Amino acid sequence: SEEKSLNFIEQIVEDDIANGVNGGRVLTRFPPEPNGYLHIGHAKSIVLNFGLAQKYNGKTNLRFDDTNPVTEDTEYVESIKNDIRWLGFEWANELYASDYFEELYQFAVKLIEKGLAYVEDATAEEIAAAKGTPTTPGTPTPARSRSVEENLDLFARMRKGEFKDGEKTLRAKGDLASPNMHMRDPLMYRIKHAHHHRTGDAWCIYPMYDFAHGQSDSIEKITHSICTLEFIPHRPLYDWFIKELEIFPSHQYEFARLNINYTVMSKRKLKLLVEEGFVSGWDDPRMPTISGLRRRGYTPASIRELCERVGVQKRDHMIELSLLEFCIREELNKTANRVMAVLDPVKLVITNYPEGQVEELTADNNPEDENAGSRTLHFSKTLYIEREDFMENPTKKYFRLGPGLMVRLKNAYIIKGESVEKDENGNITTIYATYLPESKSGGDSSGINVKGTIHWVSAAHAAKAEIRLYDRLFTSENPNGEEADFRTFINPNSLQVINEAYVEPSLSVAKPGDRFQFLRKGYFAVDQDSTSEKLIFNRTVTLKDTWAK
Ligand code: ATP
Ligand code: MG
Ligand code: MG
Repeated sequence: SEEKSLNFIEQIVEDDIANGVNGGRVLTRFPPEPNGYLHIGHAKSIVLNFGLAQKYNGKTNLRFDDTNPVTEDTEYVESIKNDIRWLGFEWANELYASDYFEELYQFAVKLIEKGLAYVEDATAEEIAAAKGTPTTPGTPTPARSRSVEENLDLFARMRKGEFKDGEKTLRAKGDLASPNMHMRDPLMYRIKHAHHHRTGDAWCIYPMYDFAHGQSDSIEKITHSICTLEFIPHRPLYDWFIKELEIFPSHQYEFARLNINYTVMSKRKLKLLVEEGFVSGWDDPRMPTISGLRRRGYTPASIRELCERVGVQKRDHMIELSLLEFCIREELNKTANRVMAVLDPVKLVITNYPEGQVEELTADNNPEDENAGSRTLHFSKTLYIEREDFMENPTKKYFRLGPGLMVRLKNAYIIKGESVEKDENGNITTIYATYLPESKSGGDSSGINVKGTIHWVSAAHAAKAEIRLYDRLFTSENPNGEEADFRTFINPNSLQVINEAYVEPSLSVAKPGDRFQFLRKGYFAVDQDSTSEKLIFNRTVTLKDTWAK
């Protein structure tokens, strides 16, 4: 295989190993906040963190960043673990930032003792007002000059629950003149009298991200703490806490987050879509969540492939949804068995085919895979074909069926259109055709060449199925744009349900998660709610990129 050049983070890791940093040890972490389901942006971070560990003989911790009791839930913890495993990765340790609450508290005490943290009385608004602007320095609040003793006492009383939410905070004593606003006495703790999904009511003060994250990294002796670009201005603070606490020096590195067009990738927004009923749940096949993509028919390999193709960048950019579709199409072209399914059925009667006769035909399962074998198709006098494969007044370039026009039925015979029957509204209800008995696929002696081949199913043998066709969830390439709320860009036609499609009988034993190519129609996966009594298929992707650009 071709030698791939290193991405910039691999380069850092290789340099560290070469220089004996941490004795060449590599320990990364994936730190989800359990406040929603994972999306494909998280997959990017998972592939990067676990991939680095795999490549450099290291390990990856799964650490739940559960420092906000209000938004977090064990349902999310379970779904996150399930999704990481499904993507093909296994963590070295399952850890929780909340397990470090006592240790973090002691770290805070140490900073107070060093005169580097103080208890604040001011409100969020007062703090913001006193912070100044990037070009003008902040002004100290009265609390900043509190003695160490007073701060220790107040912080202990914060923990004991003597104050109400918002009444006090703990702030680091940074530099109120720093051009980096994050260094201007950032918050370390806030009071929240809320039940935590793991620690229950043991705590009513909770550490802020900036105080919890780096310290958790350090406690675990993480070597390379990888996050997205928006944390670049947080890095001086990350380093400052570690230096002042004199603890293990983890290092933070930043890469560009994965953005994909025509979708949103923030848990907060995805949650709104679920709560407001725009989708059926976190695993709706239109969602960019791992569970949605799985239900849609995406494979772990196709998602990993997208992440590899996108690479690791230092600048924000937008990836086309069509690249993700390309990845799954490439894989399914090699692995998915071909079958026939008629999505918009119209009856076709072959007038010169014997009534009651059933022929067994053989069809290859996958021309791309010689080990895929073959299956038996049943052919009979009455079939279903796609309504769009017949034209009553065919145009010149129409190479499918019409009165007097010939077409091949896949794996079967050449037929010729004869006449139609219509209902009172003028809709065709039955097409009548004749077949050429000597034109059977595999032994065609008719000498006739037809340009078109169409798919079909035998009416008496076919299984009825519900088929769900999906389109982009948003009509705008970037629904996150500032002009309007992202919900105004929701595509009202993102789901089309076909209640009465007909599929080959071989599909009636298909199991949820099985994937197929429906000839000429795309790749489909059996939905999790599908049963042999009620088959349901989700279209994963069309055969070709059909979007009008
Ligand atoms: P969201 O805004 O969707 O809630 P988040 O960053 O708050 O995302 P976390 O649960 O904190 O979600 O993320 C866990 C890890 O996944 C973090 O290291 C984060 O940087 C990373 N991550 C989240 N979104 C993306 C993305 N779009 N691309 C790459 N990495 C991401
Ligand atoms: Mg986060
Ligand atoms: Mg978030």
